[in-house]
Amino acid sequence: MIVLALVLERSAEAPPVRTASFTARDVARIAHRVERIRGLRFERAVRPLFLGREEAVEYVRRESRSEYPEAERRADEEGLKLLGLLDRQTDLGEALGRVDEEQLLGFYDDKAKRLVVIRDPGVTRPLLELTLAHELVHALEDQRFGLHSKEGVPDDSALAEAALAEGTATAVMVDYADRYLSLGEALQLAQLPESGRLPPYLEKLLLFPYLEGERFVVIHLMIAGRLHWKAAGARIPGKIGVAALDFSAGTLLMTEAGTTKRAAVHLVRGEAALREHDPGGLEVLEADLGAFSAALTAESHTVKRALTDPRLFSGIGNAYGDEILHRARLSPVKLTRQLTTEEIARLFDAARATLADWVDRLRREAAGGFPEGVTAFREGMAVHGRYGRPCPACGAPVQRIVHAENETNYCPTCQTGGRLLADRALSRLLKADWPRTLEEMEQHVARRRGGLP
Ligand SMILES: [Zn+2]
Ligand SMILES: [Zn+2]
Repeated sequence: MIVLALVLERSAEAPPVRTASFTARDVARIAHRVERIRGLRFERAVRPLFLGREEAVEYVRRESRSEYPEAERRADEEGLKLLGLLDRQTDLGEALGRVDEEQLLGFYDDKAKRLVVIRDPGVTRPLLELTLAHELVHALEDQRFGLHSKEGVPDDSALAEAALAEGTATAVMVDYADRYLSLGEALQLAQLPESGRLPPYLEKLLLFPYLEGERFVVIHLMIAGRLHWKAAGARIPGKIGVAALDFSAGTLLMTEAGTTKRAAVHLVRGEAALREHDPGGLEVLEADLGAFSAALTAESHTVKRALTDPRLFSGIGNAYGDEILHRARLSPVKLTRQLTTEEIARLFDAARATLADWVDRLRREAAGGFPEGVTAFREGMAVHGRYGRPCPACGAPVQRIVHAENETNYCPTCQTGGRLLADRALSRLLKADWPRTLEEMEQHVARRRGGLP
């Protein structure tokens, strides 16, 4: 493809002038200035081809057709349409070879090593000079580094390369206008100086749209899933290995201990698809008290369950839920809608302090390395995982409520006014019907209070 065309908005009001023309000496002078700004020397002199608009447009069409044979293009087009990446009505050949005839000012053909500038009565001399400077940058970089514009449907690497090449050429061009064009000349350039912004066509060229990108790997570690950073090419261990992502610098290994397999990896395309994996919980460290309070009381739950519900709050698991409640001196089974304004504010402060504290601690522990030995039971936790051990605040033995797969730990003195919510009290109440989950337990609690049926 010839691409790398410079397209600028031409001024509608610019008075028609005589077709600007450049002698070989003019071109040499412009090329020399480009060398100075770009900091590179041409290996050979470039002789631009000055074509009329129709000839130039015909050139672009002819080249794009010959570089992308009909049969190949049709096959690509069908494939893209099947994948839903191309609209059924769109003709790929037209879409790729589309030249805005009115906007085209010049281009550099890296296959034929030909620089083409358009002579047109509507193009003023300073605009033509800038076009030449811009395309000369492409020619210069092609001589020194080799431009490799690709054929067919551009992929991300082709688009990134094009954006890089256009970025440099445009920066040199703007610098050129600054240094060598007079104010009067600059003002003749319709959109460049006045708005301080580049013309929309040029801005589009400079953007790297990232067509193949926007694919996301969503990893659900659940309870027993862990990530490890290993040397590149590390093998996936038999029993606990789930997946490995290979990068040039190393391998991200995902494992899941235990027999219950719940961890999952999803590959999703696009932000909309990514959002479907987001349970939507509030980021407590980014939220204010109002938003926290609204999320907390959106549904009537025990406060422990509300805190650990990923639809309500993001990133608070069982362990941090216990720690937050201990710091807030609140009972884990208190119902959220029965919390006073003061209690909600206390809980909010405790949640922020606990999360910030642990983020800080774990970062220091990892010391810039990859966090290994991830566990829900941490040295330094006040109540979580410390059943029977003394509460760091009051010394009373930490109590627990056992669920099927984990437990809630709390200090009766600090949090429940001395009442035990633990095994004995609840089991007597519930007879043999011991709750397996917090959800179940919360229904029992509500039933006892006459809340739920
Ligand atoms: Zn360009
Ligand atoms: Zn205590």
